[in-house]
Parts: sequence; C-alpha cells; structure tokens
Amino acid sequence: MAENKGIWVLGEVNNKGPLALTLELLTKAYELKETLKEELSCVLIGKDIGNASEKLFEYGADRVICVEDDSLEPFCEMQQGKILAFLCKQRMPSIIIAGATDRSKAVMAMCATSVGAGLTANCMDISIDSDTGRLLQTRPAYGGNLMATIVSEKMPQMATIRQGVFEAAPCLSKYSSNNEGEIEKIAVPQDLLQNPFHLEACDEIKKDESSPDYENAAIVLVAGRGIGDETSIKGLKRLSGLIGGVVGATRPVCDMGLLPHSAQIGQTGHIISPNVYMGFGVSGAAPHTIGIQGAKVMIGINTDKDAPIFDFVNYGFIADAKEVISSLIKRLEAKK
Ligand SMILES: Cc1cc2nc3c(=O)[nH]c(=O)nc-3n(C[C@H](O)[C@H](O)[C@H](O)COP(=O)(O)OP(=O)(O)OC[C@H]3O[C@@H](n4cnc5c(N)ncnc54)[C@H](O)[C@@H]3O)c2cc1C
Repeated sequence: MAENKGIWVLGEVNNKGPLALTLELLTKAYELKETLKEELSCVLIGKDIGNASEKLFEYGADRVICVEDDSLEPFCEMQQGKILAFLCKQRMPSIIIAGATDRSKAVMAMCATSVGAGLTANCMDISIDSDTGRLLQTRPAYGGNLMATIVSEKMPQMATIRQGVFEAAPCLSKYSSNNEGEIEKIAVPQDLLQNPFHLEACDEIKKDESSPDYENAAIVLVAGRGIGDETSIKGLKRLSGLIGGVVGATRPVCDMGLLPHSAQIGQTGHIISPNVYMGFGVSGAAPHTIGIQGAKVMIGINTDKDAPIFDFVNYGFIADAKEVISSLIKRLEAKK
C-alpha cells in the first residue's frame, strides 16, 4: 500500500475538448493533491484526444497520460478498462476518480475488477482523512435516506462522481507559475488494443439537443407531485420562459408521464447547482434534495407547513403552488 502514489482523474473528451465533468473533477483533485502532496495526472484513452491537454493543465493536471489509437473508436469498455488496469499496474496510483458517466463507470468497473480494487460509484463528495491520508468517498445509501462514507481497503482507491457536485475552476496560481505540465504518450501492448468484441459503428445516435442543460442552467423550476397535472406543467413552462429558466421534475411527476424521465432532478436524475432553485409542490424527500444541494438560492412552495422542504430551502412559502404559478405569470406578463 505504501508504494502507491499519485492522483489520477480519468478524463473524457469530445470534439470540443474535455467534458465539463472532467474539469470539475480536476478542480477537486487539485484540492486532494494539496493535502496529499502527490502528483495529479489526467488519463485520456481514446482516438483524437491529444489536443485537450492545455485545458487539463489549466485546471490543475501536472501530467496528461495519453493512450491514443485509432482502434479505440468505437468505444469498448472492456478494451479501455484493460488499458486503464495496465497503466495502473505499471504506475500504481493511490487514487483514481472518474465521472459517473455511462462510459467511465463501465471502464472503472472493468479496471477495478482487473486490479482487485474496490470501487465506490456515484459519489457526492470526496475528501482526504487527515489522520490516515485515505480517500473518504461519500455517496447516498438506503434509497438516499442517509449519506455513507466509504473507505477502500485496497489500492488504488477508486470512485466515480456525479456531474455538478463540484465547481470547475481554473487553477490560476499554478498556471501563472508557467508550469505547463507534461504530456506522456504511452504505447500499450498490441493485444490490449484489440477490441475483444470486434465492434463496428453502424449508426450514430445524437444526443437530444432539445433537452435542457440542467447541469448548467441558472434557474431551475421543479414540478412536484403537488402540482402534478398537465395544466400546471404548461403554466410552469410558461413561467420558466418568462424568467429564463428550465423546467425539471421530481420522480413521481416523471413516473406519471407529465415530463420525461430526462427531466428528473435528484439522486437518480440530474444533480444541479443553479443560482436559483424553485420547488413547486415538492415535499423535499432526501433522494430529491441530494440533487439540489449545490443551488445557491432555494425556494420552496408547499401547502403543508410541515413539509421537509421547508427545513432545506432559503425561502419557504406556505401556499398553493398552482396559484403562485398563475399569479407570477400574470404579474410578469403585465410588466412586458
Ligand atoms: C432509490 C430511489 C431514488 C430516487 N431518486 C429520486 C430522484 O432522483 N428524484 C426525485 O425527485 N425523487 C427520487 N426518488 C423518490 C423520492 O423518494 C420521493 O418519493 C420524491 O422525491 C417525492 O416527490 P414529490 O415531492 O414530487 O412528491 P410527494 O412526496 O408526494 O410530495 C408532494 C408535496 O406536494 C405538496 N402539495 C400538494 N398539493 C399542493 C399544492 N397545490 N401546492 C403546493 N404544494 C402542494 C404536498 O404537501 C407534498 O409535500 C427516489 C426514490 C428512491 C427509493
């Protein structure tokens, strides 16, 4: 255990550069690095990934470890997981963190199995235990009713982390010291580049661009079961148009088919950190509030004065949310 050293972020890039989530993780990992005094590397595995490095250094990476090969497209988790495990056995990092995306979760699971390490999925926080130097990995447990902190017994300590949990911030002090970091291109053994499934891309399914960008929205209005009917959802959409927000929902509202499941906010939906969150007829159950704790200002509107949401928000209104929606629309439209 003692010889494992180095903090790794498994990065993801697309044709525009590193994903926002990768930058969020680097920002947090830089904090861990300051405590542990270990090198911070970003690991990139894929095709056409080399030009993302500058941004990764800007967000705190000392080194970019790059395995680039044409055979790495289309994506195959078994192939990439084996490559990550190979790097891991060679370099022996102490910590590997990755985004809780479908891709990275699969690669991390493959790698953890190969190196015999544990893996904590969907963390909401990570930090270093000041006594032991171990990675504390915090994630919801028991249906989101409590937060459990997990410590891995084995090395490397591996965790995946949800988007929107940490704020991405360039690491200015480091950048201004002109430390531009090092790019290391690693040639891995040929057999690791063989795609075990012989995958061929036959079609590309593009992400639905009409779906709101919840993670980066400044104002999020959430429909709870308390206003769960079509007319109120229409009203909420109108209101959100007037104030430049996006409309999300609690799980029951999605289950009722009033909004798509892609609109769900919470532990098993989007983790959001807007400037303003407004919950309309939302009770404030833990699986939902886990997803909104990064919001800067929180407002709850509920008819029940004892609703748990009132223990959570900055401003609470005991009122009929449907009436509040129509009254706000009237006032804002009158001002136009
Ligand atoms: C493993 C797991 C994962 C989950 N993940 C998520 C998740 O990601 N996101 C999520 O949201 N949920 C999730 N849930 C469900 C979660 O536990 C709650 O059931 C859900 O958040 C409750 O949604 P709600 O507040 O809309 O409904 P309710 O809890 O039914 O609350 C409705 C509220 O509306 C109020 N109300 C009624 N009428 C009005 C009115 N006219 N005006 C104002 N207020 C009114 C009521 O007083 C009540 O407080 C998960 C559950 C599990 C077990």
